[in-house]
Amino acid sequence: MKKLFLFLLLGSSVVCHSQFNVAWQGKKCAVVLTYDDAINEHLDKAAPLLDSLGIKATFYVTAFSQSVQTRMNEWKKLAVNGHELGNHTLFHPCLGGKGREWVRPEYDMHNYTVQRMLDETRMTNLFLQSLDGNSKRTFAFTCGDMKIGDSSFIGAMKNDFVAARAVRNEMHKINEVDLYNVDCYMINNHTAEQMIGWTKKAMETNSLLVILFHGVGGGNPLNVDVAAHREFLQFLKQNEKDIMIAPMVTVADHIKTWQERDKAARLQQQKTQADYADMLAKLNIPMSAKRAGPSGNPSAPNAANADESKATQYTSLPNPLLLNNGRKVTDAKTWWNKRRPEIAEAFDKEIYGRVPKNTPKVTWELISTVDTMFGNQKAVAKNLLGHVDNSSYPQLKVDIQLSVITPKGIGKPVPLVMEFGFIFPGSFRPPAPPPGTVAPKSWQEQVLEQGWGFAIIVPTSFQADNGAGLTEGIIGLCNKGQYRKPGDWGTLRAWAWGASRAIDYFETDKDVDAKRIGIEGLSRYGKAAVVAMAYEPRIAIGFIGSSGAGGVKILRRIYGEQVENLASSGEYHWFAGNFIKYAADPLTQNDLPVDAHQLVALCAPRPVFISSGSPNVEGKWVDAKGMFLGGAYATPVYEILGKKGYGTMEYPPEQTALIDGDIAFRQHEGGHTTGPNWPTFIKWASRYWK
Ligand SMILES: [Zn+2]
Repeated sequence: MKKLFLFLLLGSSVVCHSQFNVAWQGKKCAVVLTYDDAINEHLDKAAPLLDSLGIKATFYVTAFSQSVQTRMNEWKKLAVNGHELGNHTLFHPCLGGKGREWVRPEYDMHNYTVQRMLDETRMTNLFLQSLDGNSKRTFAFTCGDMKIGDSSFIGAMKNDFVAARAVRNEMHKINEVDLYNVDCYMINNHTAEQMIGWTKKAMETNSLLVILFHGVGGGNPLNVDVAAHREFLQFLKQNEKDIMIAPMVTVADHIKTWQERDKAARLQQQKTQADYADMLAKLNIPMSAKRAGPSGNPSAPNAANADESKATQYTSLPNPLLLNNGRKVTDAKTWWNKRRPEIAEAFDKEIYGRVPKNTPKVTWELISTVDTMFGNQKAVAKNLLGHVDNSSYPQLKVDIQLSVITPKGIGKPVPLVMEFGFIFPGSFRPPAPPPGTVAPKSWQEQVLEQGWGFAIIVPTSFQADNGAGLTEGIIGLCNKGQYRKPGDWGTLRAWAWGASRAIDYFETDKDVDAKRIGIEGLSRYGKAAVVAMAYEPRIAIGFIGSSGAGGVKILRRIYGEQVENLASSGEYHWFAGNFIKYAADPLTQNDLPVDAHQLVALCAPRPVFISSGSPNVEGKWVDAKGMFLGGAYATPVYEILGKKGYGTMEYPPEQTALIDGDIAFRQHEGGHTTGPNWPTFIKWASRYWK
């Protein structure tokens, strides 16, 4: 039976690593030990010491060397022990000349062609592969010579090698390493102190240090003393918690991946900044007028306010039951026909943006149906792709990823909770719980136990979570790849649009009761969940997790995340461009025509559960009280529609479940998750889904 692992993608709490941590797998630097020319001392002196310390190195082997010819099995054993057999050519050709009288004419690179160099080097790769079975390895230039005549030959061999080592004495940070010209420090009777000194410098500068040994203990004019070699390697071993020590092929692979990701991240950053600048220009907002938001780091000098006594600087909130013409709303009919459209229009225009009139059609394709289990619950999982019609702009292809899981063998349509979530790749396995502990029941299992189903929609499959992606995904498709206009929809509404398309599908699935669809999300997906519910009447119930600013938290509150943060280049994409105006002089959050309680009011009379973690664990950035108030101030609208709010305006202590009304609230004792609130949500929702 195939198991599926479906997980929440944490929102704003994802930890940012400092650069050096990411660069070298949490260590300060990388050191690669290389031994050139395949000489007997490598087998007799270097390898035994390396193996006794458990350090892996790279041996740059010249295939036709005397030692390889006579002791081939011992060279083979180096690879078995985890060392890299690097390629140091077949015959060790070098450029002869003054000072290089030892270069024999037949192996003088002056007499080589590029083709001969390629042929011999590739032949050496084949030979080494026959020794170690590996198809991936690195190269070391003989005598540091990189050209035949005027032609560099390594360019033609980039598919044959992950990296190539040169001989220049330098060390570089990970983003500055040229993988086909990796610098190294060549040892010529250097002392252990010198080698240790270089290593300390590499640690200080978070660099890659490559050491090139020839002889170890006197067998080569370029030599290292046996004792110095040992002392240096012991130093490395003692400091291995700070030093990534691995063969060149491993380190080069790591650098390559890092550099590719770094390049992609920079490109995305540039695209985001360009998109953001375009929007500011369209809004006539000079950079100097835009205010910066406070820091989410509580110990920063510009930390966001976390003092409740300073939070309420506004004198009033927009009244959800007061028409724009100043008249009071006193009946449900006026709410539906006049006031609700006014509020929706304000959110459309100034905050979340407008969905285009004619969004393209989505065709759902069932990719697979598999039997699966969540804990003790048997279930059927359908994986689907929603193909968005891109005939208006074929350059962009957009698919919505959706999984629908229903209890097995029920034989009738079931209520279903849809989560804005993330599906990890198939190879991913969650960490096992610590030994001796009983793993808590997953929310998926709890939902299935009720006889309900759930669905996971992957928001980033059809709209990226960054400004760079606004010219792509469903927003980009509707704009034919052009930048947005200030009133166009932002990412939150695009994600909500995807949820509506999923409901279109549910209406066709006989296992799902499309009249009983819930929506759930956390953090930025909590914002998406309440936006989806506000605009999509087919969503029957909402579970809105730690949605914070831009979700159900009152935007006028000076506490935790602020409008200025939401309007920055890191988050503006969630909203219409127009929203940025409220973070630029002369406007402020107090000028917003609506606030978050009116977003909750748009969900009325349908039940909404507002969820938060503990401020002491989750932090104060999401502003639990601000979210509580978003629900509290929506009460008059629920009441005019014959429903009930919390039943109190008093902010309750942690772990108090306010679940008597149609607006519910609970702060659990944990962090940035909806996890501990699932049992309470299910209990409350069961009232509606009997
Ligand atoms: Zn050499």
